[in-house]
Order: sequence, then C-alpha cells, then structure tokens
Amino acid sequence: MTELNMDAFWMPFTANRHFKSAPRMLVSADGMYYKDDAGRDIMDGCAGLWCVNAGHNRKPIVEAIQKQIATLDYAPPFQIGHPKAFEAAEKLAAMAPKGLSKVFYVNSGSEAADTALKMAVAYHRVRGDAARVKLIGRERGYHGVNFGGISVGGIAGNRKLFPVALPTVDHLRSTHDLGRNAFTRGEPEFGAEFADELEARITTLHDPSTIAAVIVEPMAGSTGVLIPPKGYLKRLRQICDKYGILLIFDEVITGFGRLGADWAANKFDVLPDIITCAKGLSNGVVPMGALLVKPEIHDAFMAAAADRAIEFPHGYTYSAHPLACAASIATLDLYQEEGLFQRAAALSGQFETKAHQLKSVKNVKDIRNLGLVAGIELDSRPGAPGARGFDVFLKCWEAGVLVRFTGDIIAVSPPLIISEAEIDRLFAVIGDAIQATA
Ligand code: PMP
Repeated sequence: MTELNMDAFWMPFTANRHFKSAPRMLVSADGMYYKDDAGRDIMDGCAGLWCVNAGHNRKPIVEAIQKQIATLDYAPPFQIGHPKAFEAAEKLAAMAPKGLSKVFYVNSGSEAADTALKMAVAYHRVRGDAARVKLIGRERGYHGVNFGGISVGGIAGNRKLFPVALPTVDHLRSTHDLGRNAFTRGEPEFGAEFADELEARITTLHDPSTIAAVIVEPMAGSTGVLIPPKGYLKRLRQICDKYGILLIFDEVITGFGRLGADWAANKFDVLPDIITCAKGLSNGVVPMGALLVKPEIHDAFMAAAADRAIEFPHGYTYSAHPLACAASIATLDLYQEEGLFQRAAALSGQFETKAHQLKSVKNVKDIRNLGLVAGIELDSRPGAPGARGFDVFLKCWEAGVLVRFTGDIIAVSPPLIISEAEIDRLFAVIGDAIQATA
C-alpha cells in the first residue's frame, strides 16, 4: 500500500499515538471476513462493532443503496417526506415487539439514547406532569457518548473529562455478581433482587413522582457482556409500572437477533415503553438509529399540540436519510429471508459449548454467553488492568481474528451468518491467544 499520512485523522476512542506507531488497517470485507492491508483474511469475530449482523458486502443491501443514491440522494426530513422513510418505518414497526408501533429515526445509538431521554421527559410534560424530570441509569451501562448518554451511563471513565453531566440522574447498581454467578451458561440464576434497589432508591432518596424514566441495556454489551439475572427485567418493569415511570431498553446491541431472538424484549418477555436501536438496523453500512415507541406516548404528543404545531421539536438533518432507509429495508428483508435470528438461536448451543470450553485455560476468570454473544473475563495483570485484554486482542489479530476487548474482558459477537466450523476456529484462536499471554 502507498504510504499513508496519518497526521490529520484524530481517531475516536483510540490510543492515537500508540495506534499510529503500529497501525492495524482493514481495507475490504466480504461475508465473515475482512482483508487487512497486507492482504490477510481477518475473521470478523465482532460483527464489525456489534452491527454487521448479516455479514459484509451483502448484495441486496449494496444494490438497494446504489439504486437509492441514483434516485433520491437526500431529502430534508422536516415538514417534507420521502417514500422510503415511510416504507422503512412500516417494516420496522411490523418487526418490533407487539405494542411498540411508532418509529422515530435518528442516526446512531448515541442519538437514540439522548432522543429517548428527551422524549420521556417531554412525554410527562405534555401530559401535565412537569415534575417528572429525573432519569435513572445503571452502573456499567453504556448509552453512547452524548451528554444524556454519558449522564445515565455508568462508565466513570467516559465522564471524567466532562464534569457537566445532567444533574437530574441517578444510577442503579450493575447486576454483575461474579461471586454467585461465575461461569453461568446463559441467564444467571441469582440477582433478580438487584431490581428492588430501584424502588428503594426512588422512595428514599427521591420522590417517585419526580422520576421520568429508567434506561437499561437488557444485556450490557460494551462493558463486558453482562447477562441479566433471571427475573430482573420483569421486576424492573413492575416497579416502573407501580410508580408511573417509563422503562427504556437500549437494544442498540441486543436488537436484530444478537441474543438468538429478534429483540431482548421478546427474549425476556418484558415490554418496555421505548426501545432504542441502531447498528443492526442497517447492518452497519449506513449510520442509522431508531426509537420504537408505544402509541400512547406518540398520541400524547399529538393530543397536546395545536393542529399545525410541531409536536416533538427534535430531529436531525440526516433523520430518515434516504440511503439509510434503503439500507434498512434491504437489511430487514435479508434477516427475514435468510432466517438469521433463528439461525443465531440454532447456533447458540454450539457457541455456548465452545465458549465455555475456555474455562480451563489459565487466567480465565469468568465466561458469560447468550445467543451469539460471549464475554470472556480474564485475570488482570498485577498493576496493569487491561493489559492482558489488549494482548489477547493483538494475538487474535495476528492469528487473523478480530475480537473486542474492554479492559480484561474479551467480547465475541460474530455476524449471524457464521458457520459451525468458524465458531470452532474463533474460540480456538481466542483460547490460544489467552494461553499465550499466561
Ligand atoms: N447504546 C449501546 C447499548 C451501545 O452498545 C452503543 C454502541 N456500542 C451505543 C448506545 C452508542 O451507539 P453509537 O456508537 O452508534 O452512537
């Protein structure tokens, strides 16, 4: 490859100086594989960044985008429509958990989270309940990087340079409980009672009538694949119902088949008031996010505003972008035509078995899994948290497999088109990589 000048591009969420001293570059992708700049095949062990659920370079999606760009490349989304937006929303609503029939488009998971928080506060206000302004998130929650998202999010490191978060937030404890649940296959037995903390906090530290919404990832992905304990989400739902609080599920990772079901809401049989999604919504190929919303919420906005007034003064230049809508329609069709969510469910047994075979590898502290996602938590090196995780990531890269690491947790979430042989190889490479760092 010709020499690249790396000066200008300030990379996001990256150790820029370290990266630029030894860069890793992907130059093309097809199916389950990337190619790097040396021409090596790199198996995609994390669906890009939890988003390329149908695999790379899928013809129907590519063609839909090409056709769309040559037909209508852009249309302003405010006070004007274009057919693909309505078509995409209808398709998404038909696929959403029953009872979430309204679709509000955004461009990313971060925008989806901040939009949902604003929608929740505004919903109470348009109904005359202006006291409900507080938002409750959770430790180890990730809801993107905008101000709302980092405020309800539970990652101190993402907040420390930005000490101006929303003042009206509180956090529940994480459900992570290694003491009782280490090496659980699937949903942990212990910890439903973590949900009771919601009731305790809002009745003692707050006035429940000041709480607008609770937002959680049904399964926390970015902070290490934390599967919700059996019964936990149901209890959260009950407490929210008791006190008139909206429940928001951030399904940016869990939506579109990742857990071996279309949605985590359906997997766990808990219907939130709002779901945020992104990533798999457009197979990652064009930025897109969405909120799936109960009609009661939508209708409250419609009822509260005068006939020609804008009911929800919120949106982006690229909301329901024609290319994103075309990509999303083709993506959702592909999921259905190829039965990819069912495929994820069918492969999940082998995936679980292979993941848990790493239990005997030195320095493996915990393994968690559900559907086609797994988290492998490693012992930290003394005085160097995250160093082992990074080394394992690098060893996997050298062996031609892309995985994710957060600190000393390795996350695996391949495209749902992965084959049985590829699952075997994926975990074999990870096992060897962990061994090599012992
Ligand atoms: N919410 C969750 C649960 C996520 O996993 C992510 C991204 N990993 C986001 C929000 C933010 O999405 P984006 O990076 O598209 O803004």
